[in-house]
Amino acid sequence: MSKVMLITGASRGIGAATARLAAAAGYALCLNFRQRRDAAEQLLKELRSHGAHAIAIEADIADESQVVRLFGAIDAEFGRLDALVNNAGILERQMRLHDMDKARLERVFAVNVFGSFLCAREAVKRMSTRYGGTGGAIVNVSSIAAKLGSPNEYIDYAAAKGAIDSMTLGLAKEVAAEGIRVNAVRPGVIYTEIHASGGEPDRIERIRSSVPMGRGGEALEVAQAILWLVSDKASYTSGALLDVSGGR
Ligand code: NAD
Repeated sequence: MSKVMLITGASRGIGAATARLAAAAGYALCLNFRQRRDAAEQLLKELRSHGAHAIAIEADIADESQVVRLFGAIDAEFGRLDALVNNAGILERQMRLHDMDKARLERVFAVNVFGSFLCAREAVKRMSTRYGGTGGAIVNVSSIAAKLGSPNEYIDYAAAKGAIDSMTLGLAKEVAAEGIRVNAVRPGVIYTEIHASGGEPDRIERIRSSVPMGRGGEALEVAQAILWLVSDKASYTSGALLDVSGGR
């Protein structure tokens, strides 16, 4: 049977690019989406037309009961889980800490941190040899913002991604003996729709001179790193934070 991968926030951007590569590599897929049903169903149709076994499940990963339902749908359809790509994330409008209210901080941490923790928890329950699983791989999509800090733009997002990095390091050690590898990719500036929610769709053009390679990255270039980390080619790699940032 094919290995099964869950990708959160899979309807567009880095998640959709990862889904296309994973399907081509023979994975069966659960595509999680939150609001973009049309985009998720279009991607599902595309993957199925190439012969992939795939389902699309709506769930807000910041909501614990919806996460439990999401993993229940995977149990029902596939009866196993081999890879989790914790990709879903949000970025709010650029501002200084001075102007950030608590509701914003809660939203940013609820999706980027708590959502990733909840999905990792449910994945470990299914993958761990301790609980009858056969092992697996988790890739968290962090950001180089975690090490740059993103001053004057979104230090909340940067701090949330820092929490993801720490979770990656700790969980990798916690579940290593249970057959599970845990790694993170830290993208730099990648051409996706997320920059529009930050309030500056053309942000990459403004900061591209600060990227040593002199350009923004493509979603496919991040997806390739994710696919390598989940694959057996990375069989001795765990607890790694892999920058995919053009050298930034
Ligand atoms: P994107 O906005 O296109 O994709 C994010 C996806 O997450 C969307 O499909 C969105 O619907 C989904 N999502 C958001 N909240 C959700 C929730 N509560 N439940 C389920 N799904 C939810 O942007 P992207 O660039 O493809 O982002 C993917 C990941 O890459 C994010 O974690 C982001 O922080 C990270 N990242 C992106 C960049 C970049 O420059 N694009 C850089 C560093 C890190």
